[in-house]
Amino acid sequence: MGGIVPLSLLGMDREELVALVAQAGEPGYRAQQIMESVYRRRVESLDEISTLPQQFRDGLARDGVTVGTPQIEKKFVSVDGTVRYLIGFADGQSVETVWMPEGDGGEAGDGSEAAEAAERFAEVPGLNSSGAKAQSQNREPIAALKRCATQNQIRSVDRHSPDRASTGRSTICISSQVGCAVDCQFCLTALLGVKRNLTAGEIVGQVCAVLKDQKVSPPEDRINLVFMGMGEPFLNYENFVKASRLLVEGVGIAERRMTVSTAGIVPRIRDFGGEAIRPKLAISLNASNDALRARLMPLNKKWNLEMLMAAARDFPLRTREWITFEYVLLGDVNDAPEHAREVAELLRGMRCKVNLIALNPGPGIDFKTPSPERVTGFQNILREAGVPTFVRRPRGRDIYAACGQLKRTVEVATSPEPQMQPAFRAER
Ligand code: SF4
Repeated sequence: MGGIVPLSLLGMDREELVALVAQAGEPGYRAQQIMESVYRRRVESLDEISTLPQQFRDGLARDGVTVGTPQIEKKFVSVDGTVRYLIGFADGQSVETVWMPEGDGGEAGDGSEAAEAAERFAEVPGLNSSGAKAQSQNREPIAALKRCATQNQIRSVDRHSPDRASTGRSTICISSQVGCAVDCQFCLTALLGVKRNLTAGEIVGQVCAVLKDQKVSPPEDRINLVFMGMGEPFLNYENFVKASRLLVEGVGIAERRMTVSTAGIVPRIRDFGGEAIRPKLAISLNASNDALRARLMPLNKKWNLEMLMAAARDFPLRTREWITFEYVLLGDVNDAPEHAREVAELLRGMRCKVNLIALNPGPGIDFKTPSPERVTGFQNILREAGVPTFVRRPRGRDIYAACGQLKRTVEVATSPEPQMQPAFRAER
C-alpha cells in the first residue's frame, strides 16, 4: 500500500457529501441520493448507486472513492438467539458487535423491560417535562417508574406469545475502539489496552453490516443501539458523536433508541449534554465510594465520584429521558448492603435508574460472582430507597457475547469449537 487511504462514502456526513458533489460539478441533490444509498440501502459498490449518472460514478472510482460495509469475518449464534459478530476493517483490526434479538436486558432505549417501564414512566402525567433543564427533585416520578416496573412484570407474560417478534426489542451493541485504555479491573477488554480509535464510518459500518445480515431496516423495524462494546466512546469523542448523527440522520435510528455508556470521562459528559443530536447517557458506576471505585476503576483518581455525580446532576435531561447507572456486582467486593445504601445516597433525587449486572468469573480476573441473595438484597435496598433498579439478564453466554470480555473472547472463540464455560459478564 502506498499510504493513500481510500476515501469511503460510509462515514461521510451530509456536509462532506455536499462538498464532494460540488467538487465534481454535480447538483446538490446528489448528496441526498448518496446518503440514501449508503445509509438506507447500504450498497456494497459504487455501481449499485444507480441514481447517480454513470459518468459521476466512474469519476468517483477514478478518485479512489469506495463504499461498502465492513466485513463480517466470523459469526457465532447463541441458543438464546444472540449473535456475536467479529467485524474486520481494512487494516486488519477487528472488533466485536453483538445482535440481541430480545434486547440486552436493561439498557435505556433498548426495548427491554426496564426501558419499557421507564418509557411508560415518561408518559406518566405530572412528570417533569421541562426538556433540557435541571433534573427533577420530585420523588413522585420515581415512584411512578416503580409502579410501571411492577405492571411490566405482569405484562411480561405476553412476551412469550408467538407474535412477540413484533415487540421490537432487538438491540445492537457496538464498539467504539479496538481494545480499551480505561483499565477497569473487572474487564477482560482492559487487558488488551487500546489499539486504535474507530472512525465514524467504522462505527456506523458495524450497524450497517448487522442490519444487512439480519435483514432488518430501521425505521420500519424498531432497532435499539447501545455503545457498550469494546472501548470507551468518550475517549473517541469526535468520531462517536459523528457516528451518532449519521445513525440518526442516515440510517434512521431514533436518538431515544440509542444509549452510550461511559466509565466517567467527566469533561466529555459535560460536552455531550450540549450535543444537538445525542444518544441517552449511561454511567458505569460499579462502586459506592471513592476508595473502592479507585481500586476497581483507576480513572476515578482523575475524576472522582464528587465530580462524576456533579456532572450527572447537571446533565440536561430531555423529556422522557433518564440516566442509567450500571453497577457490576463483584462477590464480596462491592455487593454488601452498606454499598447499596451508599449508592442510594449518591443517586438521591436524581432522575435515573440502576442496572445491576452480576459478574461471571473469567480467566485473568480476580473477582467472583455474587450470590443470588446478595444481588436481590442489593436491588431491594435501592428500590426501597426509591431508585428504580433492574437486574440485567445475561445474553449469549454460550458464544461469549458478554460485553466485558469482548475481543479477548474472539481469541477463545476462534478456536474450532467455542468452549462452553461460564462467560465473564462485565458491564460494557
Ligand atoms: S469496562 Fe468498558 S471502559 Fe472499562 S476497561 Fe472495559 S471496555 Fe473499557
